[in-house]
Amino acid sequence: MEVYKNEVDIKREISSLKKAGKTIALVPTMGALHAGHLSLVKKAKEVADICVVSVFVNPTQFNNSDDLDKYPRDLEGDNKLLEKDGADLVYAPNVNDIYPDSFVSKVTVTKLTEPMEGKFRPGHFDGVTTIVNILFNITTPDFAVFGEKDFQQLRVIETMVADLKMSVKIVRGELIREESGLALSSRNQLLSHKGKKDALILSNILHKAKEIFQNGESRVSEIRKEASKMIEGLSYFDLEYLEFSDSDLCAVNNLSEGDRIFIVGYVEGVRLIDNIGV
Ligand code: AMP
Repeated sequence: MEVYKNEVDIKREISSLKKAGKTIALVPTMGALHAGHLSLVKKAKEVADICVVSVFVNPTQFNNSDDLDKYPRDLEGDNKLLEKDGADLVYAPNVNDIYPDSFVSKVTVTKLTEPMEGKFRPGHFDGVTTIVNILFNITTPDFAVFGEKDFQQLRVIETMVADLKMSVKIVRGELIREESGLALSSRNQLLSHKGKKDALILSNILHKAKEIFQNGESRVSEIRKEASKMIEGLSYFDLEYLEFSDSDLCAVNNLSEGDRIFIVGYVEGVRLIDNIGV
């Protein structure tokens, strides 16, 4: 497995692989890798000959500099995991190479980026769509794999690729959870042992809400009441949002099959995100 920092070098390698008839799948990540990321690597290898993983903590998608500073980083550990799991190329550029002082461009997707993450993290999706374009232009993938863990991001990228008639095919990877139900996340590393247990409130609310729906209650107002009861009096959890949407991220008042429930909240000052399909 080769690790590249330099854009010219990885472009040259990918170009020669493509000339030899190989197909390329890209898995964009911000590193501090876990089994959720590795499931995307597995998917990439199922659909293409060569799996490229990018590891880049993208500063332009953070709207809070403290959050960016605290974000876990472990390129050495990441490379070991990726080597073991059969990634072929790693692209881990420096920030200044991606964003030189002269950089003034951005890619914007509207509408889908307005609710939820877009509302609470202004500018976040511009950062995401811009870096994803840069990574696509450098690695020219046939496929790119994104996790349903960040479902809004996945829908934004799918829409951008369709609208801009980009030739890459987006592949979805299912959300991977710990046995406890906790969604795997790089940010879980920032939690104490107790914090990880407390963080189960997110998946517990989602699973409870889904259960209520499956038992015949589709009114969002009623499901919200049950969720509020679960959160009431919890000093360790600070809810940012609980949303009920269709697969195009439009809020619904009544849940139907195929809709999704989204939750974001803070435990020990760490912002945690989760969602579930119903
Ligand atoms: P990140 O490193 O958090 O930016 O995530 C990189 C990619 O991994 C994104 O497509 C995420 O949706 C995906 N991902 C992160 N956590 C999980 C998980 N628990 N299950 C599946 N995919 C995930």
